[in-house]
Amino acid sequence: MNPTITHEPVVMCDGKNSDKNATISSEVGHPAVYLHVNTKDVVHCPYCSRSFVFKLDFE
Ligand SMILES: [Zn+2]
Repeated sequence: MNPTITHEPVVMCDGKNSDKNATISSEVGHPAVYLHVNTKDVVHCPYCSRSFVFKLDFE
């Protein structure tokens, strides 16, 4: 599963707009959670297992 690259230190995930590999249907989603992606190299959503990677935007 490809991680979602984000430039925000905190990303909201509600399971919607997920990619095809998500374990939960993107139509149903899950309760919104806020993931602090700047605390680890890769952060996984506890609900839908999407992975997020924080990248500083130097461009
Ligand atoms: Zn999620």
